[in-house]
Amino acid sequence: MNVEEKVSDFYQQVLRRNAGEPEFHQAVSEVLDSLKVVLEKDPHYADQGLIQRLCEPERQLIFRVPWVDDQGVVQVNRGFRVQFNSVLGPYKGGLRFHPSVNLGIIKFLGFEQIFKNSLTGLPIGGGKGGSDFDPKGKSELEIMRFCQSFMTELHRHIGEYRDVPAGDIGVGGREIGYMFGQYRRLANQHESGVLTGKGLTWGGSLVRTEATGYGVVYFASKMLEAHGESFDGAKVIVSGSGNVAIYAIEKAQQLGATVVGFSDSSGYVSTPNGVDVELLKDVKEVRRARVAEYVAAAEGAEFHEGGNIWELAADVALPCATQNELNGEDAKVLAANGVRYVAEGANMPSTPEAVEVFREKGVNFAPGKAANAGGVATSALEMQQNATRDSWSFEYTDERLQKIMENIFTTCASTAATYDHEGDYVIGANIAGFKKVANAMLAQGIV
Ligand code: GLU
Repeated sequence: MNVEEKVSDFYQQVLRRNAGEPEFHQAVSEVLDSLKVVLEKDPHYADQGLIQRLCEPERQLIFRVPWVDDQGVVQVNRGFRVQFNSVLGPYKGGLRFHPSVNLGIIKFLGFEQIFKNSLTGLPIGGGKGGSDFDPKGKSELEIMRFCQSFMTELHRHIGEYRDVPAGDIGVGGREIGYMFGQYRRLANQHESGVLTGKGLTWGGSLVRTEATGYGVVYFASKMLEAHGESFDGAKVIVSGSGNVAIYAIEKAQQLGATVVGFSDSSGYVSTPNGVDVELLKDVKEVRRARVAEYVAAAEGAEFHEGGNIWELAADVALPCATQNELNGEDAKVLAANGVRYVAEGANMPSTPEAVEVFREKGVNFAPGKAANAGGVATSALEMQQNATRDSWSFEYTDERLQKIMENIFTTCASTAATYDHEGDYVIGANIAGFKKVANAMLAQGIV
């Protein structure tokens, strides 16, 4: 079999064994596609069932999460934790609470997480979890009861050396707090290293809240710099308005950019004069309201209900909402409107067709597994602080984050060049992330 046939055979096996999981198929297909280049040069990476083992999670947990709502009615949700690969360190990855969550989505996220975590250079394996619970419209007490019930099962599967969850969509500081409280009670120990994204007075790290958004902009800055450009004076569009989007907007504007639009699932807001970040934080983080409320209080901002944010003209686009939010048609519109750089803050926000359009049109594209690694990297820094019972200053932690993002950029760029695909950060990220994991798996034997 030649490499093309071998890779197609691996992919067919994945399709057969994981029916009905299109997002997982998409994530695997994208990585396998990049690996063709590696297997041509280093065929031994196909030995020892390495690729098949990599595509099969070490463990997958699915559990019932019963809880009682404010009306006294019993609600049943489904909980997941996919412990994908622990060859480099304890499983590490967020928990997502969103009605769309299913096993295939958690597997795609867990699979991506393996390579992302590898790229950080820190000792963390890959995992992901979550639930189809919808936090929207729930009371504070309902959120707490749900988090407690979720942790009542999850607690026996996690630990500082085993598996360290954190946040993702629908899980922020509040939810981590309720889950940590329940873990502490059930485990009868204050094991700070069991979760990251904790509150600052009980083991959390400064910069963790800002880290994913800041990290995307640090990565994108290096990418712009490599082409003789910078954020200073640039027009930027950011999709989403959650944790990643807010801090990407903040950092881009600190670097002199004007963020001309952001969005949520109800539509987008155009902000030709830039975003009032403090107001946005108040609307989203304090009031937990929709973006329409931002418009009511901000001068010059306009709400486009049901509108597509990718229609705005800009130099840089940062998709920071969710998977497959930017398709091939959107990519064409972006390129036609002058966007020359795209860096993904969300996990897999661009469809394969969109990525292909970016390649064709010469749009520089940073995939999420590299560009959004700042969140999990700072989680690993939180674990370091917990392990040494220390807490670092904002400046020091931010400096570490910035260095990590710059290193990831350099690794992606140089790996792409080594494999004769200069400027292709998708190939660079996939290959560099893969090789570190693969070498460790070969060294540790068939397990
Ligand atoms: N959910 C984030 C991600 O997609 C962060 C995970 C973590 O901090 O463990 O990488």
